[in-house]
Amino acid sequence: MSEKVKSMAGKNLSKLMIKGYMDLHEKAAKGAFCVWIAINVPAEIFAGFDNVVYGVPESHAAMCAGKGIGVLQCEKAENTGYSQDLCSYARIDIGNLTDGSKDSPSFGLPKPDLVVSNNNNCALISKWFDVHHREMDIPHFIMDIPFCYEPQKQKDQSYIISQIKDLISLIEKLSGQKFNFNKFEEAVFHSWEGFCEWKNFLELAKEKPSPVTAFDSFVHMAPFLTLRGTPVLKEHFKILADEARQNIKTGNLPVKKEKYRLFWDNIAPWHQLGKMSKRLSQMGANIVGASYTSCMGTVEGSFELYKWDEKDPFEYIARMMNSYMCPHGMELRYSSMKGAIEKLGIDGVIFASNRSCKPYSITQMDQQKRISDYFGIPAVMIDVDHADARKYSEENAFMRIGALLETIDSKRKN
Ligand code: SF4
Repeated sequence: MSEKVKSMAGKNLSKLMIKGYMDLHEKAAKGAFCVWIAINVPAEIFAGFDNVVYGVPESHAAMCAGKGIGVLQCEKAENTGYSQDLCSYARIDIGNLTDGSKDSPSFGLPKPDLVVSNNNNCALISKWFDVHHREMDIPHFIMDIPFCYEPQKQKDQSYIISQIKDLISLIEKLSGQKFNFNKFEEAVFHSWEGFCEWKNFLELAKEKPSPVTAFDSFVHMAPFLTLRGTPVLKEHFKILADEARQNIKTGNLPVKKEKYRLFWDNIAPWHQLGKMSKRLSQMGANIVGASYTSCMGTVEGSFELYKWDEKDPFEYIARMMNSYMCPHGMELRYSSMKGAIEKLGIDGVIFASNRSCKPYSITQMDQQKRISDYFGIPAVMIDVDHADARKYSEENAFMRIGALLETIDSKRKN
């Protein structure tokens, strides 16, 4: 990849993220009720209150890793006794709090009044947020979300909605503020519009060569986590999609001589984005899609946009709690990945076995075999950790990726 001039969307993203963190600190300092949430918690409900703000420790941890301070923050937690086997997001977050967020690019997150986790992405996150509950002496609301092997059942949806309503009642009680359904509904609409534009952007990866690389989609998913329920989502993703369309016309593509179209499975290796994208580009390889970013705005077994009928916002956000990969059993993961491979014309798959995120990685060996057997395309497994650079070897990873590209070449010759 040639040296990149920052794109319009890139500049807009920086602006949004800086403003987002500044607003969060400022409002909390002025007395807003502050909630820390796991990424899967429906943040749109906070817009239903006059003065409730939220922070996302996982997103903050990813930012720390992307800025090169993931290991530093992990070590602070390890020095207080936490095991290296724990998810690096948890170690970064806990480590960051040991010294008042002094190394954080965003000065950390403002102290919460409440933490909210869920248990369908992983069980670890509830234990992690329990640390905050104990250390800061604040309440912890755990959403018990059923794991899914098939489309969400009606009884599961009702169970999730009842918990969302309980959470709203709890916030009313703790904050003394009244929940406004109309404002909440409006926020859900904004998130839905954001998902539509996001999908418009990702769809452009069908083009050959592709104006989309997963490295851009990794970076640009951040507003989904920290600015859910706001109109800036739609605006930002429209800028992103429009710019990608323009880049097709001008030939300003992420991989100029795209020879290999790859698919990525697992969380982004935040500490490697620049290096990895550059090295792949020099090899003519473009990771055009990733399960991690394709699953936003979708539900079980497909990466196609889950269309909202604009009726009941509670139903919609309950469905969206199944948006991510980790809560899905093997069949659902296989079916969504199969659809993406067909649609994007994928030549090979990189399964990133993530030392931190065991729930994401657990089915990968079987998926690798199924994908290769069904499509006859090669796939490799590389070892990564999404935020702890000590658990990644560039040479080992690229040795396997090199072998993947050679296999694609030899298959083309035959
Ligand atoms: S283990 Fe995976 S799902 Fe759990 S907190 Fe870490 S990254 Fe998220």
